Amino acid sequence: MIDVILKKGKEKAIHHRHPWVFSGAIEKVKGKPANGDIVRLVNAGGEFLAYGFYNDQSRVALRLLEWDENVPVDEAWFRTKVGEAVAGRNDILSNGDTNTCRLIFSESDYLPGLIVDKYADHLAVQVLTSGIQNMMPVIIDELRKLLNPKSIFDKSDASSRQHEGLDTDNVVLFGDNPPDSVAVKENGVIYNINIAEGQKSGFYCDQRDNRRIVAAHTKGKKVLDCFSYTGGFTLNALAGGAASVTSVDSSALAIETLKENISLNKLDATRHSAIQSDVNKQLRVFKEAGETFDIIILDPPKYAPSRSALERASRAYKDLNRIAMLLLNKGGLLATFSCSGAMDMETFKQVLAWAALDAGKQVQFIGQFCQPEDHPVRSSFPEGEYLKGLFCRVF
Ligand code: SAH
Repeated sequence: MIDVILKKGKEKAIHHRHPWVFSGAIEKVKGKPANGDIVRLVNAGGEFLAYGFYNDQSRVALRLLEWDENVPVDEAWFRTKVGEAVAGRNDILSNGDTNTCRLIFSESDYLPGLIVDKYADHLAVQVLTSGIQNMMPVIIDELRKLLNPKSIFDKSDASSRQHEGLDTDNVVLFGDNPPDSVAVKENGVIYNINIAEGQKSGFYCDQRDNRRIVAAHTKGKKVLDCFSYTGGFTLNALAGGAASVTSVDSSALAIETLKENISLNKLDATRHSAIQSDVNKQLRVFKEAGETFDIIILDPPKYAPSRSALERASRAYKDLNRIAMLLLNKGGLLATFSCSGAMDMETFKQVLAWAALDAGKQVQFIGQFCQPEDHPVRSSFPEGEYLKGLFCRVF
């Protein structure tokens, strides 16, 4: 195995078990590892630090896997990690109300670059590192043993793969092409998922708990679900007895699927309206028309892809929340989210405080939202925490 020597003074994060080593922290590579090879990271004195995947195309040149020199990172090691991650989802899947969740969440499940989502009997995977790419035969075999899926589809995100110099084909890894439409269940609500064509890997299962929490407040209320996608919050609100729900999303396919999902769940379509539009525009249309709501959900896409984009993104979040606050009836509820990892909870609270000031409103935070247990945050890898939200009562 090839040794990679770390620069002096860079050991601290490694000892704290952070799984990334940037190329700038590397003193020397003793030999020519291929991208995706497992190498030994050692300090300047030659002492072992960790084993990790090597890739000279990526800013993150090493993704660390194992800190115990006596534990070989072999096939059995990967099978164990896959098994532990899958076992960790048993509670979510055990009550029969939910058959979709994230089974493996990359670094947070000790498998850097591997994402596996379950959609009933089908699996969608994202392979984002060359190291995991090399291990895919073993990983597929283990997933088949543990879960006996009907298909495994590779749904890798093209731009992330390019960072690692990987090609970008969507391919069937096992079984047949997944059907155009797979019906899944989450908290008893049914969704049609198009694994191959849908956004992300087809469904935003990271909002599972938050949909339930918000739905518990919707009985008899007039609800506006912004960035609705295929209806996560909309369907739960209708099932929760909302008087009416208006869903807004810019994607025609999302709106079409949302409407199918309403009839799939035998929910009352007369209480629902869908608007295919830009949310920022549509909120201003409501404002002009003097329309108001009791509950507004804001679940926008990632506005801050990196820390450097945070300031600009904060202004966009502030403006979005400001205008939503203006559309709420007195004492109405705003469930507002940010899935930007760069935006931490304290900054998000500050953004909401600015929005309230600009809107001339008073805001009480009545709850905080986070990502659910199938998107764990590893204590040595805070970067895995990305989804946060605030439940606000607005006066
Ligand atoms: N709340 C959804 C997930 C939202 S994902 C759920 O529970 O499943 C973000 C959504 O925002 C996507 O569906 C995308 O189509 C939509 N979107 C992105 N930019 C938009 C814009 N400017 N106006 C309206 N919708 C937008």
